[in-house]
Amino acid sequence: MSQKKNLVGLSRDELVAEMATLGAAPFRARQLWHWIYHRGARDFGAMTTLAKTFREQLAQSYVVARPVESRAQISQDGTRKWLLAFADGQEAECVHIPEEDRGTLCVSSQVGCTLTCKFCHTGTQRLVRNLSAAEIVGQIMLARDALGEWPSPKDDRQLTNIVLMGMGEPLYNYDNVAKAIKIAMDHEGLSVSKRKITLSTAGVVPMIERVGSELGVNLAISLHAVTDELRDMLVPLNKKYPIKDLIEACRNYPTASNARRITFEYVMLKGVNDSPAEARALVRLLAGIPAKVNLIPFNAWPGAPFECSDDDAIEKFSDIVNAAGYASPVRTPRGRDILAACGQLKSASVKLRKSELLKEAAGTA
Ligand code: SAH
Repeated sequence: MSQKKNLVGLSRDELVAEMATLGAAPFRARQLWHWIYHRGARDFGAMTTLAKTFREQLAQSYVVARPVESRAQISQDGTRKWLLAFADGQEAECVHIPEEDRGTLCVSSQVGCTLTCKFCHTGTQRLVRNLSAAEIVGQIMLARDALGEWPSPKDDRQLTNIVLMGMGEPLYNYDNVAKAIKIAMDHEGLSVSKRKITLSTAGVVPMIERVGSELGVNLAISLHAVTDELRDMLVPLNKKYPIKDLIEACRNYPTASNARRITFEYVMLKGVNDSPAEARALVRLLAGIPAKVNLIPFNAWPGAPFECSDDDAIEKFSDIVNAAGYASPVRTPRGRDILAACGQLKSASVKLRKSELLKEAAGTA
């Protein structure tokens, strides 16, 4: 039995070329694209603007396939986690975090990860492989299926934002990630704006410029330490691309502006990286970069060699960063009851700082 080819994950040009092999004109490919990415159709039979014979021809050779959902869990706070199984039996996670004014989908780029960051659970997984563009864009489509968001809504979406903060290092799988992002951004399809997509990297410096110039999406950097000595230990990739080079790449990031700041993620590890002196050093390091800081409470996993910082330490750290003019929301852990290890985005809703709450209470905010 010959395997049918998946049309999901082909670029527009590839889809046109594929259809040309059937003798179909480019506008047929465009109609097909609309059905697949705007309408969310999975069955060629439903594609009623296409001639019946053409639909039958498509069904003989192709499929419109998503990853298989091997487990879905929903947290009390509405966070959903899907464990996805791919054709070779490998699995990865995808998480949807609803908030009042938006909904964020945390997407994986690899099965496992080669970076072995000391606080990250994914780094303990042995097997690593890149996800294909189809497997990456398929996560978004599967979430849309589950949320009932077809055809792609213009407003009032439950899935408004995408963050590449799931398993894997997206810049070690750049080609597939870029292809998937371009499909997601296409206006005649999933239509997610580049302003609503954030790519998070542990700091693959030579690739950073391309993210800005070719994709134009938002950049997030997993910083976590302010000295090379500590960062070498927490994020071993730092030995290859030290802090100075990473900061330099951020300074030169093409689309960074005050309206589109670079996010610096900083996981709060008790007694490791959470002192006031480190907060001050962080502020100095970011000087001149349009930046915001995400302080992420460490999400402990069995056997993890760290603890999460105390609330007090986090608050002090956040105060120092805030006082220097950087927004530094402390992320409220989400989906803890379903262990949404989408490690990564533990969080979403911003816990207002005490001073802001007081101001708000006094009606001066
Ligand atoms: N490789 C990419 C994307 C995946 S990690 C990167 O490093 O950015 C996404 C984010 O989750 C990173 O900031 C990572 O440092 C953070 N993270 C991983 N494990 C965590 C944990 N146990 N607790 C809190 N944050 C964690």
